[in-house]
Amino acid sequence: MSGIFGAYSAAGKTVLEEVYLGLYALQHRGQESAGIAWAENGHVASARGMGLLHNAVDQHGLSLKEGRCAIGHVRYVPIESSQLHNILPICANYARGPVAIAHDGLVTNITELSRQLEARGAIFQSTTNSEAILHMMAQKSHMEPVDALVDALKKLQGSYAIVVLLEDALVAARDPWGFKPLVLGERDGTYYAASESCALDIVGARLLRDVEPGEIVVIGAKGMKSLRVRQDNGERRMHCSFEYVYTARPDSIIDGRSVYEARKEMGRRLARKAPCPGAELVAGMPDSGTISAIGYAQAAEIPFEMAVVRNRYVGRTFIQPTQKVRELGVRIKLNPIAELFKDRSAVIVDDSIVRGTTAERIVSMIRNCGAGEVHLRIASPPVLHPCRYGIDTRKEETLAAVRMTLDELCKKVGANSLDYLTEEDLVAAIGLPEERLCTACFSGKYLEG
Ligand code: 5GP
Ligand code: SF4
Ligand code: MG
Repeated sequence: MSGIFGAYSAAGKTVLEEVYLGLYALQHRGQESAGIAWAENGHVASARGMGLLHNAVDQHGLSLKEGRCAIGHVRYVPIESSQLHNILPICANYARGPVAIAHDGLVTNITELSRQLEARGAIFQSTTNSEAILHMMAQKSHMEPVDALVDALKKLQGSYAIVVLLEDALVAARDPWGFKPLVLGERDGTYYAASESCALDIVGARLLRDVEPGEIVVIGAKGMKSLRVRQDNGERRMHCSFEYVYTARPDSIIDGRSVYEARKEMGRRLARKAPCPGAELVAGMPDSGTISAIGYAQAAEIPFEMAVVRNRYVGRTFIQPTQKVRELGVRIKLNPIAELFKDRSAVIVDDSIVRGTTAERIVSMIRNCGAGEVHLRIASPPVLHPCRYGIDTRKEETLAAVRMTLDELCKKVGANSLDYLTEEDLVAAIGLPEERLCTACFSGKYLEG
């Protein structure tokens, strides 16, 4: 996953700081690196770097520059494949002017496409999907930039939400299945494209609508124009259900559905499917389990307590995983309030179990508080399959639910009981028709072909 943001001011105002702010609201989608690109005197300019946005891009320096159109990206990758040359947006000045591209997703036929491009002389500087799109455009320099881009997008398979900066246009596009979220916003003649609506809120923009699956939106001096990657594939969609479970911020609205409401409904349904009679409190694993825990508590009529506290200043990359840190474990990030757990029976709700590490540590910490019973409830179905569409960091053999039965996993994490949400309840809680959702990491139902 990654976060993307773009802005275009029809009134010719500079949008660079707004792109910075938009990315700031999308930081949860990627912390490895960040970058912003804009056009300056007919050439593409950029600011970029490693780490969180405020380390990667100098906000003050940016405020001194000007650009009526700009795009930006926050990148998430497993730490071992973190590379300077892969920071997005990828930028170039080609025969038809400046171009910059940033994407979220995973183009599944990228190896094949790159091989064809290399055979025709393309030299790659990075291993990003965005650069392949750039080369496809460059090799069609007899076409208008927008037409060359549309032509390139037609060749892609897999998932993508992309923003593209052209000399005087912003393009936002979403793959025909709609795996990755992408919304459009507007404020005072400035148009925005963002991975999530929370990034529109930060710049005071109004949410216009989602970019439709397979739609290419071109925003320029003459307004907004809508093109299509190919003829609509009908009602079949593959919106990522994991966005509602974990990835997105709860204050975002994706494909018309509030992430907060979806998470709360997951909790309510979990309470009905896997009740805990006799439990005296419900607590969520912050931040990802909190909202489902509130839903669980409300439906079960058990008091919700903010009984596990999270250090707000812990990011993903601040503390090195040295031996000492590993010994101290997750307590750096999460700490239970002992008095609330002592001699009591508690329900702990988290959004998902991947390797099972977080669950095991938190249950043992709560046990150390002298808890009577600890019942673990997961507000999504067991993660049984890797994602082929962009969250590619999970290997099948590392997934706790693949390696162990429910009873074995319950024993391993040390809980009195363990239960999950069903796939039917997940789909119902999200509230979109089943044929519009991807649930492949739970169900194994990948896109055919
Ligand atoms: P585990 O410790 O079981 O490997 O991971 C589960 C925890 O990680 C859950 O609390 C969940 O919120 C979070 N999580 C689930 N999926 C992902 C992911 O793709 N990336 C990151 N960084 N965290 C995840
Ligand atoms: Fe989302 Fe899972 Fe589908 Fe990947 S496999 S797109 S994480 S629902
Ligand atoms: Mg979590």
